[in-house]
Amino acid sequence: MLTLTFLGTGSAFAKRNFNSNALVEAWRDGPDRQSAPDATLLIDFGVTGPLALHALMGVAGFEYLRCGASADYRRIERVFVTHTHFDHVGGLEELAFCNLHVQRDDGGEPRRPMLLSGAPVIERLWEQSLRGGLGVLHGRAACLEDYFEAAAIDVGDGRGFRLLDRYRLDLFATDHIRLAEPYDWPSYGLCVRDESSGRSSFYSGDTRHDPAAFGPMLAAADVSFHEVQLGDEEDPVHARLDQLRLWPPEVRRRIWLYHYSDDWDAPRFASVAGEFAGFARPGRRYVLFD
Ligand SMILES: [Zn+2]
Repeated sequence: MLTLTFLGTGSAFAKRNFNSNALVEAWRDGPDRQSAPDATLLIDFGVTGPLALHALMGVAGFEYLRCGASADYRRIERVFVTHTHFDHVGGLEELAFCNLHVQRDDGGEPRRPMLLSGAPVIERLWEQSLRGGLGVLHGRAACLEDYFEAAAIDVGDGRGFRLLDRYRLDLFATDHIRLAEPYDWPSYGLCVRDESSGRSSFYSGDTRHDPAAFGPMLAAADVSFHEVQLGDEEDPVHARLDQLRLWPPEVRRRIWLYHYSDDWDAPRFASVAGEFAGFARPGRRYVLFD
């Protein structure tokens, strides 16, 4: 079984539902028969990530994330980074320092989770975001590999990366921020496949609406998670609700919306629950493949 639980479902500036970061868990038997999953992967870890993980460890079924009074970062085996905005990477410095200085394994070696993304994001993440805080340790310069086992993945390489040898996760490029033209600033989403059943799932990451690029993946997916912008800005860097309403009803109803602003539960959005799968909620385990 593969499950996905949002640490938070809010937009970058939301204050009610934490940043849109998610915990993917792979299970040989399932959460009803195991106290902890066999493999874990975070999708992004933004500025509210540490607080959100701390909150999640208090939710029934997520006790394994607890280490005394703190969240146990050693349980986070992999982190996939969609792009380098603060609501997606702002918690990684705490995760890295806790692994190195606070929560060492029994043998005394620090945990170095895998860091997965496209090479342009991994390079920017270190050079332009993390290096300012993590670039020095006592008496020496430090590098990304002191904290993470970085693994760059190419879009469309046909291999992606795997969980439990059964689930394959492939990157696709998203059209989020543009320097001059579409797709010229690196950001990614995930297409997840269960190779034993042939079923798939879609996770958009941050992106503008792009029917030509995402239509085939959304049409094929049993469960999808798509970011949404509830405002009506003319040239948004996210997919507007009125744009997502253009998907065929049978596709729409399989899409959980996330990355929404704090007015998501206003009466004017009440119809979303019938038009789509609904607004995804933090702390709920969604089953991608059983
Ligand atoms: Zn973004």
